[in-house]
Amino acid sequence: MKQSQLFSKTNKVAPKDEESINAQLLIRGGYVDKLMAGTYSYLPLGWRTYKKLEEIIREEINAVDGQEIFMPSMHPKENWEKTGRWDGLDVLVKVGLGEERNMALAPTHEEVVAPLAKKIVESYKDLPKAVYHFQNKFRGEKRAKSGILRLREFIMKDLYSFHVDQTDLDAYYDRVAQAYKNIFERAGIGAQTYFTYASGGTFAKYSHEFQAETEAGEDTIYVCDACHIAINKEIIEDLEHKCPLCGNASLRETKAVEVGNIFKLGTKYSTPFNLTYKDQNGEEKPIIMGCYGIGPQRLMGTIVEIFHDDKGILWPEAVAPFRVHLIGLGKDLSAAEELYQKLVTEKIEVLFDDREVSAGEKFADADLLGLPYRIIISEKSLAAGGVELKKRNEKDSQIVKIEELLGGL
Ligand SMILES: [Zn+2]
Repeated sequence: MKQSQLFSKTNKVAPKDEESINAQLLIRGGYVDKLMAGTYSYLPLGWRTYKKLEEIIREEINAVDGQEIFMPSMHPKENWEKTGRWDGLDVLVKVGLGEERNMALAPTHEEVVAPLAKKIVESYKDLPKAVYHFQNKFRGEKRAKSGILRLREFIMKDLYSFHVDQTDLDAYYDRVAQAYKNIFERAGIGAQTYFTYASGGTFAKYSHEFQAETEAGEDTIYVCDACHIAINKEIIEDLEHKCPLCGNASLRETKAVEVGNIFKLGTKYSTPFNLTYKDQNGEEKPIIMGCYGIGPQRLMGTIVEIFHDDKGILWPEAVAPFRVHLIGLGKDLSAAEELYQKLVTEKIEVLFDDREVSAGEKFADADLLGLPYRIIISEKSLAAGGVELKKRNEKDSQIVKIEELLGGL
């Protein structure tokens, strides 16, 4: 992609009303554009990173037998009345075609997936099943000041699983927990993300969430560095300030963002929708459910909060919008153009800064955008024997011969 053609532009200063680092850097870099508090458009660079995160999540959820579907975001009021959440959920966004607000813009999809499963699952032979989708969610957040960490409209991957009994749910839950660990590892934040014990739901002693350590986090967690797990502040009293795995009492208090959650729902949503199956004896039993969420946009914001410096973003390689930032300097960009074509042919994802702006501006933008590898090609570098190669997270550059460049990327 040529930078001169890109549908976005960089800004030297952040918008005044934007307090969070993730939004400041993503807006300055032309990754996202703010429409209003808690709602952002994704521009080509931002959408490329989003798509990479989505694909990592899709691969890992497919690997635990999740089947991808797509459910609507606009739901009838009746479904939400059945679960008591039409009046019981204060962030529910209610809309209507006429005067009456008789539909919900969904913040979650149990109210659709449970009656949907009822049409498909009849007997124990139809179980277990797991379905997921990536879909827009809506939350009437009063406080939406955390950039893309806390959105009013956002995309969520929500997976729902259906089981004959608690044992089957427990086994599947553990598989999804491992899939989530894989996702955060692949997204580059494995070292910063903790499997976290949170206060229990109705059907389990604890629920679990995945918390990524960053100053920008709104949650307080206590980390056991020996086990690489954490405990949410809400239940630390219950656990007497000790790690539930090793008994370590010197836990480290820190701030974190919840980047994923997994939940044993039991029959909470099966009961209101009469979601049952027939067992081997033909007896009707309630289906046991689990649900598992990740918001790829929040994940993207968290990555920026964790990986940035005073000049801009430092994307992990797997989720960078492009792998290489090729910068051509000087009036004659023909050598740069030739190298660009070569990288494209070799299927190396490259953003080519072919703009007619100063070298200083190009360097500042390269630091701001934060692609993992920067290649400078200029008369000076060619005279020195090749191109100048520098990693975004390293200080020094080196001269590399063009014919040896591909091996170093
Ligand atoms: Zn421990």
